[in-house]
Amino acid sequence: MAYQICINPDCSHQYEIGQVLHSCPVCGELLDVDYEWDSLPVPDSLCHFDRYRSESVNSVRRSSGVWRFHELLPFLPLERSVSIGEGRTILQDARYIASFVGVDAGRLFLQYEGLNPSGSFKDNGMSAALTHGAFVGAKKAACASTGNTSASLAIYAATTRLIEAVVFVGSGKIAYGKLSQALDYGAKTIQIQGDFDDALIRVRQIAKDHNIYLVNSVNPFRLEGQKTIMFRVIEELDWNVPDWIVVPGGNLGNAASFGKAFIELHKLNLIKKIPRIAIINASGSNTLHQLYNKNNDNKNERGLRWNGGHYDKDLIKNFYDKMTSESRKAHTIASAIEINRPANLSKALRTLEFCNGVVSEVTDQEIMDAKARVGACGFGCEPASAASVAGTKKLVEEGVINKEELVVCILTGHQLKDPNATVAYHGNDQNQFNNTLGKFNITSAKFANKPISVPNDPDEIAKFL
Ligand SMILES: *Cc1c(COP(=O)(O)O)cnc(C)c1O
Ligand SMILES: [Zn+2]
Repeated sequence: MAYQICINPDCSHQYEIGQVLHSCPVCGELLDVDYEWDSLPVPDSLCHFDRYRSESVNSVRRSSGVWRFHELLPFLPLERSVSIGEGRTILQDARYIASFVGVDAGRLFLQYEGLNPSGSFKDNGMSAALTHGAFVGAKKAACASTGNTSASLAIYAATTRLIEAVVFVGSGKIAYGKLSQALDYGAKTIQIQGDFDDALIRVRQIAKDHNIYLVNSVNPFRLEGQKTIMFRVIEELDWNVPDWIVVPGGNLGNAASFGKAFIELHKLNLIKKIPRIAIINASGSNTLHQLYNKNNDNKNERGLRWNGGHYDKDLIKNFYDKMTSESRKAHTIASAIEINRPANLSKALRTLEFCNGVVSEVTDQEIMDAKARVGACGFGCEPASAASVAGTKKLVEEGVINKEELVVCILTGHQLKDPNATVAYHGNDQNQFNNTLGKFNITSAKFANKPISVPNDPDEIAKFL
């Protein structure tokens, strides 16, 4: 009833659910999990899912915002679901920052995925990946990570004891909040020389050679779990589809799974309208933006497109070869999206086609200013997440997003993940910048809430109150 299938329309090879694959063995393209929907109990309306919110607390339907939607990711029976209470996140009406991005009050919503058990959206995918991993009897699981995937794998390994976690991180490329989680939860943590792109290539090879279960977003089961972020967004909007979903783009797993979610909901006749998607790169790691929006040496004037699955692979290869020959490395303060070779590029192109999407880029300065506005709204997020808010602002200014449209920005990770970046921004002094942020191009901190130094004297203190 469920199977894996190559997304290359000229290949379309199918594989069983029990196989552990990260790409199609025949042609090398990415795989989807797919379903024979006709033989499955698909609800005829999304309202069907309302009932599960009132189920008993012990029910995984109630306690997990992923497995509540089991009918829409039914690759294994519900009883097999691995869960630690992921996906209990909220959609917040962010009227205090609607004016900052330039949309009407009440039209901007923030989906706070930082409220997951490990503090990022990655838990949505990890619960699904480890459900599959446990099913195939994996004993060890590994990932390459800019930090949050490793924190997520580590917390699942520590709480469920189903699997031993091995995480690979690039040297000096990980925010302290995230590294501290992997260490504290007891994951074997391997820091390799190089960045995320290097680590991912290495861990794919090691996982294969040593029969270790890989939980990066090339794992198609992981992306099934991430579809539920979109289900929860529309659930909170009383099953209405917003005009725009805006998401930061790193390895493009979210972009891939959000598109798949809408393709399936539409095919199953559960939604009529398809939202537009905006994928936001950091300008220091903007491969998708470059390929999608620029012509380069491109014969295809529009830039790279999915084109029904016949996308221009030479264009990508030339772009990557050029990066290699120039030794160009990703570089942004938004470390979670500091990725130059996004593994889910082809699936993201598919999403962009189906959702009539756009791609944009924002600078580190724009990211940190937007992050400060989000923080001042009372929830906060890490730098990468704020790319969605900064990107929305830019797209409104450019007239791509209309101020009356309903926009949902995905806040991918919690504010406490990267305290160094936050404190340096608010400190806004040149020493701090040089020490912590100097190597990033952040020259002003418009929204800094600078700590005030005063002598320990009541009269002096009173002057500042
Ligand atoms: C992993 C991560 C991203 C990037 O998501 P992709 O699905 O890889 O594009 C963005 N923000 C945060 C906080 C992350 O942890
Ligand atoms: Zn194939």
